[in-house]
Amino acid sequence: MNSACSDFSMPVRQTTILIVDDVPDSLDLLNEMLRSQGYHTFVANSGLRAIDLAQRVQPDLILLDVMMPGMDGFETCRRLKAHPETMDIPVIFVSGCNETDDVVSGFDHGAVDYISKPVRLPEVKARVRSQLQTQSSSEHQKRQTRRLRMIVEGMDEGLILVGADGRIQYANPASERVLGYKEAELAGRPLADLLAEPAANDYAAYFDRRDTQMRDPALERCRGTREVLLVQADGSLRPMDLNLSPMAQGEQLYVALLHDIAHHKQSETALQRVAMADPLTGIANRRQFDSCLEREWQRAIRNAKPLSLLVLDVDHFKLYNDLLGHAAGDQCLQAVASTVQAHALRATDLAARYGGEEFVLLLPDTPYAGAAKLADSIRADVERLRVPNPRSSTSDFVTVSVGAATFVPTKFDDMRSLFLAADRAMYDAKAAGRNRVVAVGGGYAWEAMQTALAR
Ligand code: GH3
Ligand code: MG
Ligand code: MG
Repeated sequence: MNSACSDFSMPVRQTTILIVDDVPDSLDLLNEMLRSQGYHTFVANSGLRAIDLAQRVQPDLILLDVMMPGMDGFETCRRLKAHPETMDIPVIFVSGCNETDDVVSGFDHGAVDYISKPVRLPEVKARVRSQLQTQSSSEHQKRQTRRLRMIVEGMDEGLILVGADGRIQYANPASERVLGYKEAELAGRPLADLLAEPAANDYAAYFDRRDTQMRDPALERCRGTREVLLVQADGSLRPMDLNLSPMAQGEQLYVALLHDIAHHKQSETALQRVAMADPLTGIANRRQFDSCLEREWQRAIRNAKPLSLLVLDVDHFKLYNDLLGHAAGDQCLQAVASTVQAHALRATDLAARYGGEEFVLLLPDTPYAGAAKLADSIRADVERLRVPNPRSSTSDFVTVSVGAATFVPTKFDDMRSLFLAADRAMYDAKAAGRNRVVAVGGGYAWEAMQTALAR
């Protein structure tokens, strides 16, 4: 909102001046002159009347005589300044008492200016105009400040002002709310205290070393927007974007904006889950298998532990599909997937659909014998599903052929060798009559891999 807009939206009120003087001629002279300038005027011939009028009409300015019978101008001014409804109205003394002490006393009583009698009308005109301008710009500033405060206090984003020492000077209600702090609990704390590592360290160093010319990449990361973990009042962590920027002018002050990204994080995780799952069977897809294999292969190298892989392929599945239709084929694949998944018992085991009617089961820290046993258990369970496959020459029911390979990999081995060995073993199982397991380990697998990679 710019000020031009807001000024248009304000009801226009004629500038009003209250003139106070006990001498009718002086009163008339000033009154006529100010009216001729387009001001709306009120007149009072005593201090009491002036106070009463000022409270009722709320003038923009008061011209106040000093020497008056009864309550003099100084006392009138004192009372005006003591009353909340009139304290902000600027007062200009107009007086024949022109000694320095009188003028000083006028200012001491809260006046904004002092005009000597006899008055010179052009001077009064100029002083009144200048006073009204000053007042209108300070009113404008007050309005702007109120508006800014409303925005900052009402915004959903967290806004924190940080001093040059890295301590919080102000935190808006949104930042207190989102972090679970009570009002004013954040003021005085170092900003870095609200952050989890590694950001906490970087920001603490940033405010420590701000003045030096050091170009530390960790400190560079504190400028602009950075994803950080904020420590909430209850100790839990909350992911947020933190934008820290120095104020353009004036005192050394930084503005930190907090943008909550928890909901992005949730959808990100949900997206990752979708991207890693096979839509038909709901188990892991090939992409997840590939990244898991890479991780477990490296871990097996580090720990010198056996890593086993089963590759399973449904036997005569084309015949099943051709006879019973694609939808029935899909259901059959779901049943086989569940059976494979049911054998992924450890947290680190991963069952995945590799493609078509081919599945894999990655078994970290599993030796040859264990893998071969598990492979046969899956084979038997699939057969036990008793899903009819009338055209199969292997069995009346849907069956699978399984290849198992076990490696204790070293850093000199090629990661692809594990899959190639298991896949080759699966084809050996097909060739040997299907519905069976061929397990390879150690030297045999190494040889199979060499041959396959050489092809
Ligand atoms: P083998 O015993 O030698 O493995 O013979 P097979 O018939 O199982 O092998 P082949 O590779 O000839 O056929 C695989 C079939 O699997 C062909 C394809 O239509 C079917 N298939 C692959 N993906 C899907 C799927 O997502 N849904 C369905 N219903 N069928 C699929
Ligand atoms: Mg098949
Ligand atoms: Mg196949």
